[in-house]
Amino acid sequence: ASNQYSTDPAIQRRKTRPVPVGSITIGGGHPVAVQSMINEDTLDIDGSVAAIRRLHEIGCEIVRVTVPSMAHAKAMEEIRDRLHKSYQPVPLVADVHHNGMKIALEVAHHVDNVRINPGLYVFEKPKSDRTDYTSAEFDEIGSKIRETLEPLVISLRDQNKSMRIGVNHGSLSERMLFTYGDTPEGMVESALEFIRICEALNFYHIELSLKASRVPVMIAANRLMVKRMDELGMDYPIHLGVTEAGDGEYGRIKSTAGIGTLLAEGIGDTLRVSLTEAPEKEIPVCYGILQALGLRKTMVEYVACPSCGRTLFNLEEVLHQVRTATQHLTGLDIAVMGCIVNGPGEMADADYGYVGKQAGYISLYRGRNEIKKVPEAQGVEELINLIKSDGKWIDP
Ligand code: SF4
Repeated sequence: ASNQYSTDPAIQRRKTRPVPVGSITIGGGHPVAVQSMINEDTLDIDGSVAAIRRLHEIGCEIVRVTVPSMAHAKAMEEIRDRLHKSYQPVPLVADVHHNGMKIALEVAHHVDNVRINPGLYVFEKPKSDRTDYTSAEFDEIGSKIRETLEPLVISLRDQNKSMRIGVNHGSLSERMLFTYGDTPEGMVESALEFIRICEALNFYHIELSLKASRVPVMIAANRLMVKRMDELGMDYPIHLGVTEAGDGEYGRIKSTAGIGTLLAEGIGDTLRVSLTEAPEKEIPVCYGILQALGLRKTMVEYVACPSCGRTLFNLEEVLHQVRTATQHLTGLDIAVMGCIVNGPGEMADADYGYVGKQAGYISLYRGRNEIKKVPEAQGVEELINLIKSDGKWIDP
């Protein structure tokens, strides 16, 4: 909330406790971590190892796998061993489903973090004819949940591993639905119930996720979660995501609207962009959101004008050429501007500028200083020479 009306452009991240997921730490001031999930069947060991590695190689720092049965849980041992031997240890999260406590206990030995969904711990019999639970019934189910969950909490605690309490708006338990409604409150109460079980066992390696396919619900649930945690003196890190965001442009926009809004408020320590596309496609979107918000810098920041009637060259084509030539120079900011009508300040203090000067000529800038005018045909080459002469060039 401190970011909301702040004039300081740097995002003040909410202070959270550090939670380990293998070699990555979530929260505690660590960079916002990028996650995704493979869609191979975990029983396909070769396929899963290859998919995990593929994702990790392009920057996915934590990989989630689905573990729907005991056979899948056992397969994780082999998957982890093969990764260790043929590649490197990759931080792994296992997603465990309905009341799969035996499965969770097994897989807890082979991964770094186990994700459970409180909504799937349902001990109530489906009662379509009723609309509420008495508080005695509510508590009775709560104690069954606690008994069921305890061995997993103890196992993770004793192995110094972590747990994600992942609440989904679409799968709240009936008892939470009847008591709190299909609301952000229901999601938060569901998470809090599980947090309390963990804390009673002195287990604090918890990350939370409150996902929904509707962006406003996801935003409201995470804001409320943070508010409640602040009131209760809790500081667990949060995993952000918009579930079922879909694909293509709108899937990316939806994810960015939800995740980006919260990150800008300082909420969020790790993220996943869930697209109905190959998981590899999610990773650049994650890094793009983080870079745009100034939370991580993993690529060249390009500043480019939208072009207009004053534009003196084919901006789209030149931007593409400049990008192709320089995109490996991670630390730099490069501006490509159709003209300098509004002054070098419009280049947002980029390290270098490529600016339309007059028909057939462009100017190269270092910061706000014009360095030289060159024929447009040599523009990209001369930009590279300028970067080289400053000792900032690295061969691709
Ligand atoms: Fe048009 Fe120049 Fe502005 Fe680009 S920088 S949009 S060319 S006025």
